[in-house]
Amino acid sequence: MDRVNILGVTFDNVTMEQSVARVIELVESGRTAYVVTPNSEIAYECMKDSAFCNIINGADLTVPDGAGVVLASKILGRTLKQKVAGVELATALLPELSKRKKKLFLFGAKPGVAEKAAEEMKRLAPGLNVCGCMHGYFETDEEVVTAINAAAPDVLFVCLGSPKQELWMSENAEKIVPCTMLGIGGSLDVFAGVVKRAPDIMVRMNLEWLYRLVKQPSRFGRMLRLPKYLFAALRESKKIK
Ligand code: UDP
Repeated sequence: MDRVNILGVTFDNVTMEQSVARVIELVESGRTAYVVTPNSEIAYECMKDSAFCNIINGADLTVPDGAGVVLASKILGRTLKQKVAGVELATALLPELSKRKKKLFLFGAKPGVAEKAAEEMKRLAPGLNVCGCMHGYFETDEEVVTAINAAAPDVLFVCLGSPKQELWMSENAEKIVPCTMLGIGGSLDVFAGVVKRAPDIMVRMNLEWLYRLVKQPSRFGRMLRLPKYLFAALRESKKIK
């Protein structure tokens, strides 16, 4: 698969359709695998933290969840095909999982949110087998691992936000039954309707970040990583020339 290094993070240069096909391939393989969806905030964190960067680069599939990463790829002259948002990848996967009778476990978000998200997912993909739900405010990893292993899923959505979810997947990969894990941040909140996605027009204009900032001003600090990330890409592109 075509891979592109953007400021130290190796992204798979894939369309949404290719991402879905790759996840299905991983699921069908029956082995332990994990998928990460870094946006520019996470990719910037990777520049500062090499241990975290290794976890991201150790994933079986790494897709760019953000217009900022795609823009950085253009600045560096290694243009990624498209943004592949985690929540959109999850949505596209649901009918495929239902068709193949795969079991899905939802892990993360506040108590009650995963159950609501499951209802919406089953509406979107009739016949989908959601084999378990667990909120993301647990005391110990062991209680989560026990719940997941009892349900024996084929696919596990890990929605704890970043970097918590990536660390969790890497630390617990060997403890849970072989399955494909996807670290997809606030996606359960979106499925459950707890958090609204930006209107389509804003998504198309690459202004989703602005919508999130207005809705959650507390994100301002972490959002400053977006311009810093783009400046780093500009600096790097000057070095290359
Ligand atoms: N979350 C969680 N456990 C924690 C911290 C966060 O389950 O200890 C959940 C939180 O409820 C939310 C998601 O993780 O559903 C993080 O959402 P956010 O939009 O911050 O994630 P992002 O995709 O931006 O990383």
